Amino acid sequence: MGEKAAPNGEIYTMPTFVKRPTLSVYDYIIVGSGSAGSVLAARLTEDKSNKVLLIEAGASDRNIFIQMPAGLGIPLMKDRYNWKFFAEIEHFTDSTEGPYTPRGRVLGGSSSINGMNWVRGNRADYDHWSDCGLTNWSYAHCLPYFKRSENCGHGDSAYRGKNGPTNVIKAEASNPLFQAFIQASNEYGLALNNDHNGASQIGVHKTQRNVANGIRHSASQAYLYDQPDKPNLEILLETRCTAIEFSGADAVKVHLNRRGENFSIEVAGELILSAGAIQSPQLLMLAGIGDANMLADTEISVRQHMPGVGSNLQDHPAWCFDYGVTNSHDSLASKLSYFGRLKIGMEWLLAKRGLGISNHFEVGAFLCLTENETIPDVQMECIAMKGDFAPEGITIEPGYQCFTSLQRPTSRGKLWIESADPTKAPKFQFNYLSTHYDQDITIAAIKATREIFQQPAWNGRLTPELSGVHQLKSNQDIMQWAYAHIESNYHPCGTCRMGTDDEAVTDEAGKVHGFNNLRVVDASIIPSIPAGNLNAITIMIAEKIADSLLGLPALEAEYPKHN
Ligand SMILES: Cc1cc2nc3c(=O)[nH]c(=O)nc-3n(C[C@H](O)[C@H](O)[C@H](O)COP(=O)(O)OP(=O)(O)OC[C@H]3O[C@@H](n4cnc5c(N)ncnc54)[C@H](O)[C@@H]3O)c2cc1C
Repeated sequence: MGEKAAPNGEIYTMPTFVKRPTLSVYDYIIVGSGSAGSVLAARLTEDKSNKVLLIEAGASDRNIFIQMPAGLGIPLMKDRYNWKFFAEIEHFTDSTEGPYTPRGRVLGGSSSINGMNWVRGNRADYDHWSDCGLTNWSYAHCLPYFKRSENCGHGDSAYRGKNGPTNVIKAEASNPLFQAFIQASNEYGLALNNDHNGASQIGVHKTQRNVANGIRHSASQAYLYDQPDKPNLEILLETRCTAIEFSGADAVKVHLNRRGENFSIEVAGELILSAGAIQSPQLLMLAGIGDANMLADTEISVRQHMPGVGSNLQDHPAWCFDYGVTNSHDSLASKLSYFGRLKIGMEWLLAKRGLGISNHFEVGAFLCLTENETIPDVQMECIAMKGDFAPEGITIEPGYQCFTSLQRPTSRGKLWIESADPTKAPKFQFNYLSTHYDQDITIAAIKATREIFQQPAWNGRLTPELSGVHQLKSNQDIMQWAYAHIESNYHPCGTCRMGTDDEAVTDEAGKVHGFNNLRVVDASIIPSIPAGNLNAITIMIAEKIADSLLGLPALEAEYPKHN
């Protein structure tokens, strides 16, 4: 066990990594160390009598480009850290490939390769969950857990946590192109919102990011490393859970494969699947928990017919608006020459300062485009360069990009398996834009984005949008462009949703219906996708269910006054 300094200056012992579990039975076994799994491991081991095993298919996250926020494109490119899933091709396109769906395959999961935008969603999202029967998931019930998860130096303490594990800071957004976006949004009619994770979400904002002392504050960094030693937690890396063994309604064992070697470990208490929205439902299906018709096409015998497993797949569909810049010095790309990168790297290594601490997304906006005035239909996230973060490599050029995504899509996709082989990726299809609301709001979102980029604040700084969307006149042409350019915003969720109805997979504490000690706790259990990126939201979900697992009373609901 090594020692290291946590961001608060205290010296903590490194978490205990093992090559083989030291016990044959654990109180809690957690499969997957991502946003949810890392939180659960940390919270469940706060009770020193619990013996917890955290199993992660991926490798260690101790890599300089995972830790340096500006290096985010590099781990994303690597098979070592990214599962690199592809969804099935959407019905409306003649593309030969479905939407690219990266997922973290490393300690910290997707929180170790994501964009570090810290967003909580809208209060109405959680009140809707509550209205659908999940009465303990209203905004008032979730707020104390959002606050417990974060250490935020700004914002009203009625809304913001001041002592939690994840450090949240606000971007400076000093680049003239970011300043122009804020001003252009004002000219369009969006006011500057100083805290989109506070009382109101709407408006243009400087982004907030989970970074501590210049380092990515992934769930693993915040909850596993930057915490006091946890001798009752063992972490098993590069180990894949391949099967679950049952005795009646009890999960009793997990079957594991580590570097080709098979073995199994018993669970005395709860088995928690935190393998993410693509792989938690896969693990249930491999165990015979899923739609009986679908399982009939594999060699898997049905343990429990549950058509809800894998249905209800949701995501935020997105479009990238690409602009060139008239003065290349405005773009971040001008600072990324060989020597530029060397300078950024040295400044980051020596002082944890400079461009290295930025996640590049420094401004954004939430817009209402329907008659409601408080629940955003659309999010915009901007970056002051033209970057293509394709699975096979990164290209960076001078330019400016705005990612516009739908926040309340009503389309639902599904996920299924075609093989009993746990190493075969599951199949999934997002089924984007399959409802009238999604189609109408797509056209409105594209028009709103164009309007913002036509405001005087840009003052000749940008060249015309490169894919020609500004020239399109009819709604039909805009829709064709939308179909051709649609992307995932990397927020799959909802594939094992919580609920009380027949299609729901888990109860409101993530316990799989019909089983005594089997839980799913990750983005899979989200019933309807909130308006915002999912890392902070998944962390909140795990924080809240951890209390339930520990048998602790839930934190008291909070009702701050809001405008
Ligand atoms: C490229 C990218 C950018 C993103 N940007 C942002 C952003 O800026 N802000 C934001 O809020 N959200 C962002 N997200 C989304 C957010 O990070 C995820 O929604 C969130 O981390 C999901 O958490 P999770 O716990 O559900 O799953 P994950 O964090 O994905 O964790 C699942 C873990 O389970 C492991 N696993 C899977 N199967 C097995 C198995 N059989 N055995 C053992 N281990 C297994 C995986 O390797 C992984 O580590 C982004 C995501 C990606 C991929």
